[in-house]
Amino acid sequence: MPVNNIIVFNNYFQQKQDNKIRTQISKLDLQNKQMGQQGNQKLKCQQDDHQDDIETICYNQFCQDFRLNCFKCNKRKIHLDHSNDVEKINSLIGFIENTNKVCDNLIDDLNSYVENLNQSFSQLKRGIRLKYSIQKERLINLSSKQLHDYLNSTITLIEYKQSVKQIISAQAKKLTHTFNNLYEQLQLLSFNYYQVDSSSIKLSEDLYDKGFDLFLKTNYSEAIDILDMSIQFNPKNYLSLGCKGACLRKLNKYEDAISWLNKILSINPKHIFSILEKGKCLRLLNQYEDAIIWLDQALAIDPKHVFSLSQKGECLRMLKKYEEAIFWLDQALAIDPKDVFSLSEKGACLRQLNKYEDAICWLDQALAINPKHVFAIKIKEFCKQELSQ
Ligand SMILES: [Zn+2]
Ligand SMILES: [Zn+2]
Repeated sequence: MPVNNIIVFNNYFQQKQDNKIRTQISKLDLQNKQMGQQGNQKLKCQQDDHQDDIETICYNQFCQDFRLNCFKCNKRKIHLDHSNDVEKINSLIGFIENTNKVCDNLIDDLNSYVENLNQSFSQLKRGIRLKYSIQKERLINLSSKQLHDYLNSTITLIEYKQSVKQIISAQAKKLTHTFNNLYEQLQLLSFNYYQVDSSSIKLSEDLYDKGFDLFLKTNYSEAIDILDMSIQFNPKNYLSLGCKGACLRKLNKYEDAISWLNKILSINPKHIFSILEKGKCLRLLNQYEDAIIWLDQALAIDPKHVFSLSQKGECLRMLKKYEEAIFWLDQALAIDPKDVFSLSEKGACLRQLNKYEDAICWLDQALAINPKHVFAIKIKEFCKQELSQ
């Protein structure tokens, strides 16, 4: 577990490193554009009906007005109360170069923190192996005193093992959360000036196909590794982001899954797959009321979505609102009368309402389609017991 997290950290910073390369590439792009600009492609003002060249840029931190201004804009004296922050257009390249430098330095600093972390981690691992794991060949060279000490140590390892795992996994989890939170707070996915080139999009799609294939084969951890690469090539590949969320859910990491799904929903609030996945995660976290909010959103987009209808029914049953649950399950069954999940859920609700015979009738319908449906078998048994009392 901790080892995996370190790999995650490394991937994370590898990704940052790649962004650095991208920054350098975009610098080149910019120089090319600038050369174009010196030719005849000057930036034109797009405010109102202005057709003039852009003359000034406002760099004021708190400015709410449009930052690029032409002669006509400037006559309106918009940036007057912070005119010290207004510079000529030719300051732009310097500004961008400086910002790129700040960005590179930040990434270098972050890299060095994780590098230190990695060194300490390697030291810890080496230490553990050195002390607690001895080769059988070495055994013959040990004196009985040394062997006695070895046994004393190893016996304590069994006791320490649990707490070492707990400490490291808690800290690793914290750090992972911090990365994810920062990713969201800095809104690293929502900006409109980064163009992903077509070959990166294609690579990202190919990697998604591989990742999804691994997802279908239930190799969720491997799938995540591939999907991470896909996301690296195109950070806005919803399919990969969503599939990663689904993998995390399958690995029972519901909170991490929700944090990935939120990334998609922050860009595209109507992404039905992510809405549904989030609803599933909340249900698995036993947060039924919150889950219903998201299932309702899915149903607002697609009112005939059987899965959402039946999930909503299950959530309501867990909230002991049996009649309401049956209302939604009936809607699911009106669309798909053979939906085993809805049939058995309806049986479970009727049982709670003490309508045992009715319940058995619906459970039998579920079992006629899937005779091995564990939940339906169990509920039917309970009903029979309750009827015989
Ligand atoms: Zn203008
Ligand atoms: Zn301004």
